[in-house]
Amino acid sequence: MSFTSLGLSAPILDAVAEQGYETPSPIQAKAIPAVLEGRDVMAAAQTGTGKTAGFTLPILERLAAGTRAPGKQVRALILTPTRELAAQIGANIEAYGKHLPLRSAVVFGGVKINPQIAKLRGGVDILVATPGRLLDLHGQKAVNFDALDVLVLDEADRMLDMGFIHDIRRILKTLPSKRQNLLFSATFSQEIRQLAKGLVNDPVEISVTPRNTTAETVTQWIHPVDKARKPALLTHLIHEHQWQQVLVFMRTKHGANRLSRHLEEAGIEAAAIHGNKSQNARTKALDGFKSGEIRVLVATDIAARGLDINQLPQVVNFELPNVAEDYVHRIGRTGRAGASGHAISLVCAEEGKELAGIERLIRQTLERQTIAGFEPSEALVSGKGTSPRGGGGQRSDKPSGGGQRRGGDARKSGSGKQGGNDNPAARERNGGENRPRRRRGGRGRGNGTQGA
Ligand code: AMP
Repeated sequence: MSFTSLGLSAPILDAVAEQGYETPSPIQAKAIPAVLEGRDVMAAAQTGTGKTAGFTLPILERLAAGTRAPGKQVRALILTPTRELAAQIGANIEAYGKHLPLRSAVVFGGVKINPQIAKLRGGVDILVATPGRLLDLHGQKAVNFDALDVLVLDEADRMLDMGFIHDIRRILKTLPSKRQNLLFSATFSQEIRQLAKGLVNDPVEISVTPRNTTAETVTQWIHPVDKARKPALLTHLIHEHQWQQVLVFMRTKHGANRLSRHLEEAGIEAAAIHGNKSQNARTKALDGFKSGEIRVLVATDIAARGLDINQLPQVVNFELPNVAEDYVHRIGRTGRAGASGHAISLVCAEEGKELAGIERLIRQTLERQTIAGFEPSEALVSGKGTSPRGGGGQRSDKPSGGGQRRGGDARKSGSGKQGGNDNPAARERNGGENRPRRRRGGRGRGNGTQGA
């Protein structure tokens, strides 16, 4: 299968070839013809599958055939949860659309609104936006959607996790009812299906990664280690394996800053990326990481979400995430587009419950490798462990599909309480990078005017 057989025209095929893409990824092979036909699409696909080109290429093709957007109008709207993801989709659109006379713009919160208003004044064919800032712009009458043909909800599951459901519903009300809808989500929970019901019409359903499984090209293992020894073990591993580009995940912004400083002190170029960093600082860190100036990028889950870093060889979980599905998202940063990668977790005895939740979700027992000189003083038993933050309320994810476990180690089932709020990732989602709001119902902010 080649891109030429998918129904795309020469300007787009040339741009795709210039990107070095030779064959369409499975999601592209399925989504591109469906979108070109004007069908609604509901796709289960994670970052790393090539989903962005899966929707942007056919949208560009369709828009190239029509007339340009009039002032303050938008013809295709792509909603996405984070600034980074919005910027990356925007960059992809520029690259794929470079031989077409279409205009695109990216709008997100945390930066000045006036340049965005100015950009929208002349009309844009494709707008990539985070929900809060888009509502703000709409409220200020900087944009309207009378000419909208296509809506994309990208990473819909994450948008719901981040509490954007009310914003999304408010945006939907402002859109013309006759339009094409494309819904992309890593997972299809009940909540997403509920949202989809009122959104897509007779959709083509596409699934390219089975739910909650991890890419086969990613080799995963665990190093059991004492909590206090984790920084030393990380520097040891970086030196020992001469890792040149490592993405390290932390639960908290604070932890990310601390670890980044520790690495710098050990002579390893590092930068932290999280919600308290300015957009400029984040972009600088990401660029430095991509160019090789920065060897270790230390990120919180939400900041790392959707980062487009090609074929990242190493991902390290310095701490396991509280929410098991975040593990799948984290390691989705490596082994992308068929390249192999390593996902390594440094796990201390206190993280037994989180480990059990992850192993249930991915239905695998992760291999334990103890490193000489870093043997833990307390054995790692998945299913055990107390919340390192104290106060209980730890979330343990439900077993999926019966939650069978393999392996003969003495693991006990993680029976943490459901839905606790002592969750730094959730706290960051709610209070850090985005607006303070609760995940479901309740006390969300009403006016949607802050930056997303
Ligand atoms: P995405 O899942 O959209 O985040 O894309 C993941 C990565 O795969 C991006 O870096 C793309 O540039 C790259 N990519 C997308 N489509 C292809 C393709 N057909 N061949 C090779 N790389 C691709």
